[in-house]
Amino acid sequence: MSKKDFYEILGVSKSSSQDEIKKAYRKVAMQYHPDRNPGDKTAEEKFKEAAEAYEVLSDTDKRTQYDRFGHQAFSQGRQGGGFSGGGMNMDDIFSNFGDIFGDDSPFGSFFGGGSSRRSSGSRSRGTRGSNLRVKIKLNYEELAKGAQKTIKVKKYVGCSTCSGSGAKDKSSVQDCKTCGGSGQVRRVQNTFLGQMQTVTTCPTCNGEGSTVTHKCTSCKGDGRVYGEETVTIDIPAGVQEGMQLSLSGKGNAGERGGAAGDLIVLIEEESHPQLHRDGLNVAFDLHISIPDAVFGTQVEVPTIDGRAKIKIPPGTQSGKIFRLKGKGFPNVNSYEKGDQLIQINVWTPQQVSGSEKEMLEKLQKSENFKPKPDKNDKSFFDKVREMFT
Ligand SMILES: [Zn+2]
Ligand SMILES: [Zn+2]
Repeated sequence: MSKKDFYEILGVSKSSSQDEIKKAYRKVAMQYHPDRNPGDKTAEEKFKEAAEAYEVLSDTDKRTQYDRFGHQAFSQGRQGGGFSGGGMNMDDIFSNFGDIFGDDSPFGSFFGGGSSRRSSGSRSRGTRGSNLRVKIKLNYEELAKGAQKTIKVKKYVGCSTCSGSGAKDKSSVQDCKTCGGSGQVRRVQNTFLGQMQTVTTCPTCNGEGSTVTHKCTSCKGDGRVYGEETVTIDIPAGVQEGMQLSLSGKGNAGERGGAAGDLIVLIEEESHPQLHRDGLNVAFDLHISIPDAVFGTQVEVPTIDGRAKIKIPPGTQSGKIFRLKGKGFPNVNSYEKGDQLIQINVWTPQQVSGSEKEMLEKLQKSENFKPKPDKNDKSFFDKVREMFT
């Protein structure tokens, strides 16, 4: 449950009238309405927050409690006001909209006259299935280029015998007697502003509008069975370890025809035998021999996608870093691309033969082999900072 001040959420003062609160809620609800902000989780959060705030502030009893005790009034263990404690789902919020927007609802038939968000005639069916989480391991090339993965997911799937209804046959589905099949019950409350009507989900049928007399034998009335589904997942280029993709409706099937949950895909990175990721850049340690460092050479290095040739100029120092522009990882959210950084390590032999020893002893005395570090060369730390940030 949100710990933000309910008055602040709606942008009203503590002395605001019920009418002002109602108006403020209309404004906030319209601004963050999911239909206006598709896929925007922040907007959805704000939308829910506003509904919570309105649920409390629009009820004089609850508002008094809130003014006295704050959020404590509705925390668990305290029977104050009977507020659900943040458990409002979208359907509850939408079902209250008819009363708030009345006939001039900006969202057309969705909220007109207190009807629920569902298209006319259909009722709330079953309960929503839960979300499922799976992990997918990708190698460097897949992370960089994106990938299509087909996986088998063990989960609840809709029962094919009863098409998810949970009923043995059509005649075993009967209209709910409590709500007459609408799935909703109306409650009239007397407030100092006059009568206020609230619409809530029918407690007998849980909003389904019908009850089942004979259950389907395959699913025992659940409308779903445990099974397996093959799911194809398109992974965009540039994802990184720990990122999540959400596949709407690919989670567990709901009970009795309820909407399916989402499939949450968690990205894991498979380490590369030679390359090492650093943000969008990829680093590679290249070892070259002393003669190659002196004469220069051309070598092949591994990259994310295959191999690349690089030229080592004569007189290359150990520790020198070469950059292959654009050979790193792409950013999943932009056109930005990292580089591949290749650090040169001049290989010092671990053992030498007799004749090699003689040659090296001669070189040892040569003026050319005495280290003469470039005074202008940046320090190691400067180099690292420049390359990796
Ligand atoms: Zn069934
Ligand atoms: Zn009912």
